[in-house]
Amino acid sequence: MTQLRIGQGYDVHRLTEGKPLILGGVTIAHDQGLLGHSDADVLVHAVIDALLGAAAIGDIGEMFPDTDERWRGADSLGLLRMARESLSDYAVVNADTTVVAQAPKLSPYRAAMRENIAKALGIEDTRVNVKLTTEEGLGFTGSGAGIAAQAVVLLERL
Ligand code: MG
Repeated sequence: MTQLRIGQGYDVHRLTEGKPLILGGVTIAHDQGLLGHSDADVLVHAVIDALLGAAAIGDIGEMFPDTDERWRGADSLGLLRMARESLSDYAVVNADTTVVAQAPKLSPYRAAMRENIAKALGIEDTRVNVKLTTEEGLGFTGSGAGIAAQAVVLLERL
């Protein structure tokens, strides 16, 4: 019997001036960026939490604590690769993600984000999806105070 396990991830980071905006490992042209201990890549953080959730091994804050100087300014795709490599008993089946941002327009970057996440997970990019949406001006994403991301990852136990 195949053993499939699903995991879900959710993350939010605050937008601020004077920081680069990095989503899915892609540096995006914008007048604001995300604030965080690492590079604050909210999309990749959601994928890491979904991956760890599927394996039932806690969350990103446990694996990469923001009190640890090793992870200051860390490339989140590198963290995703490390998280993936810690799960040697599993194959990644697919990942589906959603970025919630009022601005900037992210569709020109979608293919590169997808490719980066797939590469870090060690799977073909046909197994990764990046959806882009707004919350129609409502709430903290709508006001431009922050960006949110959600992800689900399916694992198969080897
Ligand atoms: Mg985060």
